[in-house]
Order: sequence, then C-alpha cells, then structure tokens
Amino acid sequence: MVVRWLLALCTITITIGMQQPPTSITMIRAAVSPDSTVLRIRAASTLTGFQRPERVPGGFVLRLPGATLENDAIDSSASAAPLRVDAKRIRDILVLTVRCAPTDSVVLRRDGQRDLLCVIQPKKTEKAEKIEEPEDVIPRHHTGSRGKWSLDVIVIDAGHGGKDVGAEGVNGAFEKDVTLAIAKLVRARLAEIMPSTKVVMTRDNDVFIELFRRTQIANDAGGKLFLSIHCNSMPTKPHPAHGCETYILRPGRNDDAARVASRENASVKFEQSQRRYEGMTEDQIIVATMAQRSFVRLSESFAASIQREVVDDTPLEDRGVSQAGFFVLVGAAMPNVLIETGFLSNRSDAEYLASQKGQAAIAGSIASAIRSYAASYQRSLSH
Ligand SMILES: [Zn+2]
Repeated sequence: MVVRWLLALCTITITIGMQQPPTSITMIRAAVSPDSTVLRIRAASTLTGFQRPERVPGGFVLRLPGATLENDAIDSSASAAPLRVDAKRIRDILVLTVRCAPTDSVVLRRDGQRDLLCVIQPKKTEKAEKIEEPEDVIPRHHTGSRGKWSLDVIVIDAGHGGKDVGAEGVNGAFEKDVTLAIAKLVRARLAEIMPSTKVVMTRDNDVFIELFRRTQIANDAGGKLFLSIHCNSMPTKPHPAHGCETYILRPGRNDDAARVASRENASVKFEQSQRRYEGMTEDQIIVATMAQRSFVRLSESFAASIQREVVDDTPLEDRGVSQAGFFVLVGAAMPNVLIETGFLSNRSDAEYLASQKGQAAIAGSIASAIRSYAASYQRSLSH
C-alpha cells in the first residue's frame, strides 16, 4: 500500500516537473520614492504562478514556484537600504525575502506575462486611498440641500508659459500662446453656460509654472475637474500627422503615447529643481495611477466627452482617447485629463490652432464637453 502511494506521488511530481519547466528570473529592480517602493520582478518567459506575499518579522516573503534566479539578477537598487531583497531556492520554489518597514502594505500583481510588480506603501497612503474609494468620490453632502451639483470648481490649465514656449508651430505659433488663448475662451464660455461654477486658471498670463504646481493649485482650489490644454507636435515639421487626442493618466500603452508624454514632461527642464521628478519612472506612474484609481472612470468619461465635442464642432480629426504618464496630471485629487488639441507641426492644424476662429471653436467644444460631463455627473448623483 505504502509503495503504491509512493509510486503515485513520484508520478505526480514527475508530471508537474515536466509540464512546468523552470522560469528564470532575469531582473529584480526597485524604484524608491518617499511615498512608495515598486519592485519589478522580470522573468525570461511567462511566469506560471506566484503566491501572495507573506508577512514575516522585518518584511515579507514572496514565493515563486518553479522559478530560478539568474546570477546578478538582483539590481543594486533592490539590495540597498532601506530595501533589501535576498533570494534562496527551497526545493523548486524561489523564495525572495524583502526587508521593509513593519507598517508598509504590500500588493503583488502581474504586469504583462513576464513581469510581477510588488508595490510597497506606507500604511497611511493606504488609508488616504481608502477615503477615495468610488463610493466616497461623490459624497452625498456635496450635492447640498438645494440639490445644486457638486461640480462647483473647474480647473483649466493652459500648458507651458513664460520661458517654456512648448511646441513651435510650422507657422511660428508657440504652443504656450495657443493654449492660453483657448483656456481663456473656455473660461469665458463657461461663465455663460455654467454661471454658478467657479473656474480656476493655473495661469492667465504668460508666466512659467512648474508641472507639480499646476495640480497643487487645482487641489488647493478644491477643484472637481482638471483639464490641461496642449498642442501636439512631431519631431520634424511640416509633418502629415494631424488631429485631436485626449489623454488620461496611466502608464503609456504604445510608443506614440509615450512620445507625447515625454515631450510634455520635458517641461521640467525649465524648473529649478528636477529632483522632484527623479523617481518618476514608469513604475512610479503606475503608483500614481493607483492613487487616482477612483477617478479613472470619471476621467475616461470626461475624455470621451471632449473627443466627441471637439470632433463634432471642429475640422480636427479624431485620434481618440489614449493614456500615458503625464507628470502634469500626477497628484490631481480629482478627475483629470489632458487634451492635445492638434498638431502644430502640421500645416493645416497649425493654421487652425493659431486662428481666432479655430481657438473659439475648440474652446466652445471643450466648454460643451464640460457641461455634458457635469450633467451626467449630476445624474449619477441622483441615482
Ligand atoms: Zn504641451
């Protein structure tokens, strides 16, 4: 009897061993910022499985069945204080011991087929996020006893300004001037169609404002919606690429979105200290997105509304809603989107963007999009 059991056990072990060849872990890298640490674990092939992190004194343990560790896979970023990753193999399981503060929370999830992301955050961040869970995003008291909508403050951000001219058009127009002109027209139009709503501008003249300050201004003003206005551009001009696209904050999905974000993020070179953005790797954008997860649905809905209105009311072509890691949206405690109105590198887009008629039409459609967003937001409150 015992012999038969042993035989059966051996058979099972052999079968499992044959079905799942070991996956080798090629890289373990950490991105550390004051708010969080993101550990990226990359495998050479598809990771078949992993176990939930287990808390142990001084940190936690990750177990990756069927995985092995390549030599030098642990990057120096993951083996220096305050973080320290140690690895050992117990039978066919790769065991990673991660040292961190006892109060930190740990979330482990897949990022594609070959990557695991381990997000370590201080407990207080987790509490702050809980306050922003979807059911609390639209607190009942915001509607007020008279049933007025709670979308009482809207923040319009005219991209660039001052020494940061933004993109330079094929016709000589500066992005900073086009965005400011459109932003002012949006404000004027909103005053007409939504008179009880306060509109806050991050700038209303030709001044330079750091990217982080823009969401700070929005948060300080108690903004309920944040819109950053920009113009797109290609590295060479004139260029045939044209049309309008709207972005929400998320790690870039494709090269084109990443190109747009990196061009806009380049504004930080005009700032006195770039240290604030040093940790802003792709992994940090993921964390920033997680902190905003309660606004994602509303941001998507607002972005879709903008695209619809602009495409209906202007000759600009619809390039759709996309996602990328824009620094200017990081930290917004409200639904937020960024619009790339058109391409200054394209002759006909640039001409339209620089014209009063074009600016007025774009601003009018943005204001309409804000109004329809506000209306659907209001309806969602009464349900
Ligand atoms: Zn821009």
